Amino acid sequence: MKFATKVIHGGLSADPQTGAVMTPIYQTSTYKQDSPGVHKGYEYARTQNPTRGALEANLASIENGKHAVCFGSGLAAQDAVMKLLEPGDEIISTNDLYGGSYRQMMAVYAKYGIKCTFLDMSNLQELKDAINDNTKLIWAETPTNPMLKIIDVQAICDIAKDKGVQVLVDNTFCSPYLQNPLDLGADIVLHSATKYLGGHSDVVHGCLIMKDDGIHDKLRFIQNASGAVPGPQDCFLILRGIKTLHLRVQRACDSAKKIVDFLQGHDAVSKVYYPGLEEHPGHEIAASQMKDFGGMISFDLKKNTQEASYTVLSNTHYFTLAESLGGVESLIGHPASMTHASIPKEDRLKVGLTDSLIRISVGVEDPDDLIADLDKALKTI
Ligand SMILES: *Cc1c(COP(=O)(O)O)cnc(C)c1O
Repeated sequence: MKFATKVIHGGLSADPQTGAVMTPIYQTSTYKQDSPGVHKGYEYARTQNPTRGALEANLASIENGKHAVCFGSGLAAQDAVMKLLEPGDEIISTNDLYGGSYRQMMAVYAKYGIKCTFLDMSNLQELKDAINDNTKLIWAETPTNPMLKIIDVQAICDIAKDKGVQVLVDNTFCSPYLQNPLDLGADIVLHSATKYLGGHSDVVHGCLIMKDDGIHDKLRFIQNASGAVPGPQDCFLILRGIKTLHLRVQRACDSAKKIVDFLQGHDAVSKVYYPGLEEHPGHEIAASQMKDFGGMISFDLKKNTQEASYTVLSNTHYFTLAESLGGVESLIGHPASMTHASIPKEDRLKVGLTDSLIRISVGVEDPDDLIADLDKALKTI
């Protein structure tokens, strides 16, 4: 089955009870048993829900996995993975990791004895040198947020396999349409489904996808034992969003290219970060591991101050100033004070995350209107 067919049909079938073509929202907390222990496979809705089950089957299909496990948010999905670890275990991650992921590792799990180190994972030698006997997990994100650095997923999986370490890839920025890390050797894929999978900025949701039965059993146990499950209505919304994933993301990629061209030619812009640019250091890897270059762009201003970037951010009309990404509407944000405010300033500046850096998530509006909107805002500096 090709991707555009999988988003519609993968893992899904009409409702067996009624024939409803769309997966019903099973808004129930419990299920009737005919006698104790005699039931239709559903006992209590923290443990099993048919709407959630349909979404999990669909997610496994579109990410080329065997299993998917859903959670109430991307960070709840991360939390379940952290619970696979023991005190003394170590994680190696990227030094421009999503701010909320960094915060959970450092402010929640460090005190339970889980150590996290952060490095530039585009430097494979640095990664190799950092792995020690306690390293259990490599936590990669590519393209990274907000610097849009590219990590070679196959290369880090080869290094990890050699050392008996597992690899998780946070695939939120690409969505399964652009990149399938399980095919490149990753053990677990994480999505904040809040972003491209849901795609309409109306639900918070997260999921993990994997091939391995053993990892799946452990995560399924944690999903039920810790209980951070999504409601059936939210699962329905993600299922609905996925049906147009390929159309939305391709449109965002096509418009992003036009916006990048515009920004590169603009007097007020000093640097554009986009993996589709030939001069981007990760361009070739991106071209081989991604189907296209995505809808996320970061750029810096010649006037290198927070005030200049705040002026731009307050003067767009179609680009809404908001956190998050991956919706049908274009968003604009200031990583230093918004998504990455929990990362210490020295660490931020080291990776180029300056006070004037602006990040945009390209939606599905007409690209000419988006460009005119940015042009108008940039003229106000
Ligand atoms: C948003 C995001 C998360 C966290 O997901 P939530 O659904 O907000 O909990 C994790 N990783 C990346 C890359 C994200 O963009």
